[in-house]
Amino acid sequence: KKQQEDKAKINRRMSRIRHKVIVLSGKGGVGKSTVAVNLAVSLAQSGRSVGLLDVDIHGPSIPIMLGLDGVSLSSNGKTFEPISIGNLKAMSIGFLIQNEDEALIWRGPMKMGVIKQLLGDVEWGELDYLIIDNPPGTGDEPLSICQLIENPDGAIIVTTPQRVAAIDVRKALTFCRELKLPILGIVENMSGFSCPKCGEVVEIFPSGGGRKIAVDFNVPFLGSLPIDPAIGIACDAGTPFVQHYEQTETAGKFKDIIAPILA
Ligand code: ADP
Repeated sequence: KKQQEDKAKINRRMSRIRHKVIVLSGKGGVGKSTVAVNLAVSLAQSGRSVGLLDVDIHGPSIPIMLGLDGVSLSSNGKTFEPISIGNLKAMSIGFLIQNEDEALIWRGPMKMGVIKQLLGDVEWGELDYLIIDNPPGTGDEPLSICQLIENPDGAIIVTTPQRVAAIDVRKALTFCRELKLPILGIVENMSGFSCPKCGEVVEIFPSGGGRKIAVDFNVPFLGSLPIDPAIGIACDAGTPFVQHYEQTETAGKFKDIIAPILA
């Protein structure tokens, strides 16, 4: 009964949000949160009302990427008000815990409780888009989250170009298929490095893995993003890349990636 109530509460909350996009990856460290943040900021820049929900409970990085680390939320004991920056609202488990390492020792039921709170107890109000930054991989937590979100538009899968990463993407694709979660497309991140001195593109990892898998699985390939030191700097400084480096070629690539999602 409690489970049904939780689900009904999440459904009521989510029914006020027109589009729900889940950002997934086969494993950690591929740039999933970077893509989620910049996607959300790009959508907000285009005038949409956007929520960004960080449910990556073991590595909440969105507070840092938005320059909101150290911010804590006020709560009336029942619901949470997300942090607003213009027409972007952000919510992260990072706003709720004092100590980043706290979540590491939580047991399964505790984690599920927090996940349900993040999905059901945040006062988003009406939104055009909610971008959900899932935990990496295809384990229990990402699985539960995807099952708790009714009628999502689908998933964006972020990967790096190497063949070993491709194995994890296959798992993520199979995960989506089994959950009947539509696949919006694959983003290949860290695809080549353009030398700032001479402009030559160096393939630090052999590129093209993401595109190949998209073809093999017959899902859209949304585009690739190079390794760009400005992305790392922007993330660490809490200044979203697409906003602060708007005129650069890489920011243009981010915009191209979201174009089909906006259409
Ligand atoms: P994940 O969410 O998959 O664990 P993150 O988005 O946190 O990965 O990215 C991991 C690190 O790599 C971050 O420090 C981020 O700034 C950096 N990063 C991600 N994509 C790029 C890129 N294309 N160029 C340079 N640095 C990047």
